[in-house]
Amino acid sequence: MATLELRNVNKTYGSGLPDTLKNIQLAIADGEFLILVGPSGCGKSTLMNCIAGLENITGGAIVVDGTDISQMSPKDRDIAMVFQSYALYPTMTVRQNIEFGLKIRKVPASEIDQEVARVAKLLQIEHLLTRKPGQLSGGQQQRVAMGRALARRPKIYLFDEPLSNLDAKLRVEMRTEMKLMHQRLKTTTVYVTHDQIEAMTLGDKVAVMKDGIIQQFGTPKDIYTEPANLFVASFIGSPPMNFIPVKPRRDNGQWQAPLASDQGQLGLPLQAEGVDLASREVILGLRPEQLAVAGEGARAVLQARVEVIEPTGPDTLVFVTLNGTKVCCRVAPDQAPAAGEILNLSFDASKALLFDAQSGERLAARSNTPAEGSAGNVAQFRGR
Ligand code: ADP
Ligand code: MG
Repeated sequence: MATLELRNVNKTYGSGLPDTLKNIQLAIADGEFLILVGPSGCGKSTLMNCIAGLENITGGAIVVDGTDISQMSPKDRDIAMVFQSYALYPTMTVRQNIEFGLKIRKVPASEIDQEVARVAKLLQIEHLLTRKPGQLSGGQQQRVAMGRALARRPKIYLFDEPLSNLDAKLRVEMRTEMKLMHQRLKTTTVYVTHDQIEAMTLGDKVAVMKDGIIQQFGTPKDIYTEPANLFVASFIGSPPMNFIPVKPRRDNGQWQAPLASDQGQLGLPLQAEGVDLASREVILGLRPEQLAVAGEGARAVLQARVEVIEPTGPDTLVFVTLNGTKVCCRVAPDQAPAAGEILNLSFDASKALLFDAQSGERLAARSNTPAEGSAGNVAQFRGR
């Protein structure tokens, strides 16, 4: 049982060097599974190493169950970490690797035997216990590294990209296993990945990091539907959100995002209460699933020539050009047009997002309540 709080954590690797971690603030509830996601080099491993005590922080505090552990040595923190490299001891057998942490903690031999048997069964590596790491596949080594962490029952688990060295199929299998394991053990966990699918599927909460700064912290749903800025919006979601430059204009008291294809024009209605859109360069954010093939009687329809289609199996990606930008629409395969055809596009404007073109910040929070008479087909924004 443990809560973990990071209070204004800063880290620099040396005076004169820029801060690698900048004012990190996160609070993880007992039993929660937090995903830390961000591009390579943004500081994820540094943060894990700081929590584990392998690196010192240069400011702020790391607090577990209300106690500041920032100055504690790693072995006293009761935190188990699985490294991206696995870091198995090559000369030891699988059993010895798994036992190692328990022996150091002077756990009685009978208990050690029980723990090894338990995790070996859990991870289905019972038949590998006498082998050495060099005799194992990457996937098996990964399980041993997990076993070494799981043999202990620490307050907190830290996983640093544990699946990134596995092939795609095994990665998907292990992802499900990780989730099952957490549902069973309910140990507070921080899990690092650069894979946005893992970020969306595994965690209770997601922290998106860039350049040592937490860009957004929320549930996977928050991050997906209400991204704080262009970086978060572009990082999460596959295929990524479409970003269409628009110059909003006001027509009969109604803000509109003018959209032009090679076939015509449309003013996508925006409800931008409290946001000054006048003479502003903005980016309209629309996820591929928010563009559809227009059905009978659909409003906000714009024709566009289909440039290319990409069938993925469950859906087909259809590419058109709007405002000079290539735009991806995700449609059901039986609705998919052919390349060269003219497509009637409709927009789920109620889910559209607006970002400031200069700062990249989301301009406004979407309102949850549809404006009167809009019937959900007007994009709604509230100033903030
Ligand atoms: P990530 O895990 O997100 O890929 P890292 O935490 O490994 O990122 O690295 C973040 C930044 O800190 C990088 O610019 C990296 O070069 C730098 N860095 C990491 N470890 C050290 C170190 N021991 N000394 C100096 N700089 C380091
Ligand atoms: Mg790393």
